[in-house]
Amino acid sequence: MIVVMKPGATEQDVRHVVDLVNEFGLKEHIIYGTNRTVIACLGDKRMVDKGAIENAPNVERIVPILAPYKIASREVQKEYTQIKIGPKDFGLGGTKIGVIAGPCAVENEKQLLQTAEKVSAAGCIGLRAGAFKPRTSPYSFQGLGVEGLKILAKAKKQTGLAVVTEVVAVEHVETVAEYVDVLQIGARNMQHYPLLEAMGKVKKPVLLKRGMSAQLDEFLLAAEYIINAGNSQVILCERGIRTFEEYVRNTLALAVVPELKDKTHLPVVVDPSHGTGHAHLVPAMCRAAVAAGADGLLIECHPDPEHALSDGAQSITPANLSELMPQLKKIAQAIGRDV
Ligand code: PEP
Ligand code: MN
Repeated sequence: MIVVMKPGATEQDVRHVVDLVNEFGLKEHIIYGTNRTVIACLGDKRMVDKGAIENAPNVERIVPILAPYKIASREVQKEYTQIKIGPKDFGLGGTKIGVIAGPCAVENEKQLLQTAEKVSAAGCIGLRAGAFKPRTSPYSFQGLGVEGLKILAKAKKQTGLAVVTEVVAVEHVETVAEYVDVLQIGARNMQHYPLLEAMGKVKKPVLLKRGMSAQLDEFLLAAEYIINAGNSQVILCERGIRTFEEYVRNTLALAVVPELKDKTHLPVVVDPSHGTGHAHLVPAMCRAAVAAGADGLLIECHPDPEHALSDGAQSITPANLSELMPQLKKIAQAIGRDV
C-alpha cells in the first residue's frame, strides 16, 4: 500500500508515518515528488491497522498497490526515474536518448580502444562489451575476465564514455563494480535471485535484461528484487524473447516498450542486436525502438564483425553506426526528444 501525504506535510509528519509503518513490521520506501511525498509500505500488510496510519497528521489517503511489483510501479511513482550514468552523468530516462554501443566481448586492447573511439565519435554516450561472457556452449570464448575489465577502464579514461559490462557471478560483483559504470545482468541471469540481491548492494546503476522466456511481470519483479535489496538505479533492457520463429535469433517484442513506460517509472532500453541476431535488421529495429519510446539503445558494434569472437553476425560496423545516429536523432526529434 501507499501512504499519500498532504502537500504541506513536514519531514516530521513523514518520519511519524514511517515509524508507524515500521511498527507494523513493514519496510518503507519514500518518494519525494514535486507536489507531495508518498510512502510505499512493503511487506505483509495483513497486520496493519490502516486507520491508525490514516489518522496520522497530514496523511491524505492510503491506497493499495495493485501491481505485484511495488516500488518499480508507476502506481507508487508517476514521474519517470532518470538514472545518471558514466563520467558525464548522462541522465538516462530523460528527454535525451542514450545510445550505448560496442562489441559483444572485449577481445583485446586494440579492438576495444579502436571501437571505443568510433563509438564516441558517432555520438554515443556509452560503451558496452563483455569481460565475463555467459556462453551457451562451454567451448565458446568465455571472455578475458579481469584483464577485460582493465581494458574497459582504459577505454573509459580515453573517451569519457560510460562503460557497461555484464556480471555473471555473485563473487565477481565487487570487482566488476570497481572498473565499470553500469553492471549488466544478462538474460540468462534475470531470475538468478542471489545475483539480483547482490546488485542491491552495489552503488552503481544496473542494466537488467529481460529473460528470453520471461513475462513482463516477471521482468519487473526481477527489477523489484534489486530495488528492494537497496539499489533503485535499475535500467530495463528488452533484448528479444524466444518464439517459434526462426528467421531471427529472438523476437524483438517492441510493444513492451510503451507497455513498460506505462507500468514502470524505470528507464527502458532496447537491444536490437540480440533481439534479431542479424546485423542487417539492427538499424531498422533501432529506429523503431526510438519511435516506440525507448530511453536508450544497446547495440553490438564491431570493427571487424567477420572475425568477432562472439556475436559477429549481429554486430554492425562503426560505419553503420555513424550512418544510423543522425537518423535516430531525426526520429527522436519528431517525438519531442533528442539523441
Ligand atoms: C550480451 O549483451 O552480450 C548478452 C550476452 O546478452 P543477453 O544476456 O541478452 O543474451
Ligand atoms: Mn552478445
